Amino acid sequence: MILDGKKVSEKILTDLKKRIIEKKLAPKLVIITIGKDDASEVYVRKKLESAEKIGITAKQIKFTEESSEQEILNEIDKLNKDKNVDGFIVQLPVPKHINANKLLEKIAPEKDVDGFHPINVGKLFLGISEDNDMLPATPFGIMKMIEYYKIKVEGKNAVVVGRSNIVGKPIASLLLNKNATVSITHSKTKNLEEYTKKADIIVVAVGKPKIITAEMVKEGAYIIDVGMNKINGKNVGDVDFENVIKKAHCSPVPGGVGPLTVAMLMYNTVKASEK
Ligand code: NDP
Repeated sequence: MILDGKKVSEKILTDLKKRIIEKKLAPKLVIITIGKDDASEVYVRKKLESAEKIGITAKQIKFTEESSEQEILNEIDKLNKDKNVDGFIVQLPVPKHINANKLLEKIAPEKDVDGFHPINVGKLFLGISEDNDMLPATPFGIMKMIEYYKIKVEGKNAVVVGRSNIVGKPIASLLLNKNATVSITHSKTKNLEEYTKKADIIVVAVGKPKIITAEMVKEGAYIIDVGMNKINGKNVGDVDFENVIKKAHCSPVPGGVGPLTVAMLMYNTVKASEK
């Protein structure tokens, strides 16, 4: 089975649009971008388009490569205080001279619709996030996909490949909170396939094409591919999709986790606006 993230995200966006109309909400989202990054430009465009489609007013505030950290901190301060802004994000990555963590820590947790503030991350890790708290969009989207396809998590072996703060660690936590037995693997893991072969669920977030091949997965396993790579102008994930799909369930790239990440940002924005 193909785990169709586009289909799941469309359902989420349709539900959100209804919610905005029924509750007469006027959500407002701001996206701060710093410098120029080709991939980010595409993501930001998709976020702005999605917002517009469902009735969220979204605005991009652009800083240049030369902007100082203080200038951006000042803008964050302004947005924190602005009663007309429900949520905002700093699009990552940021230029090297800027400390992303410092920016993320400055965002008011209730406006942190990317879910990267240490308070939101801490609650997630402690397993005490409540409905009102913000969960990071990509892992949150993966959990929505798992829910949509009724994939059993409790008591299952889940392997997360990659341990970044924005995908690997939080998805491992969310799976653990749902009672999976979770292994987190990374670049120093020896014999990756020893882990993946035993996995009922694999989440791959590395950024290397074909790091997961058909030989590495169990028949009937669920593979969620977060990876985003460009090969000869074509977007591909981290999984050898063509061969893996012959023996396991897998999300494609494009059309998998990407659209879900955008949808969950909208979800968090609507939640912030309701609050
Ligand atoms: P990072 O670069 O922050 O993390 C990559 C992780 O992969 C690291 O933990 C690294 O290990 C691990 N790794 C590297 N090589 C190997 C290996 N050979 N075996 C096992 N693990 C390895 O990336 P992100 O988490 O930010 O992103 C991962 C991918 O997901 C990228 O392609 C990115 O573009 C994509 N992405 C897609 C999103 C979407 O919405 N679809 C959202 C976010 C990311 P170590 O820690 O030891 O260095």
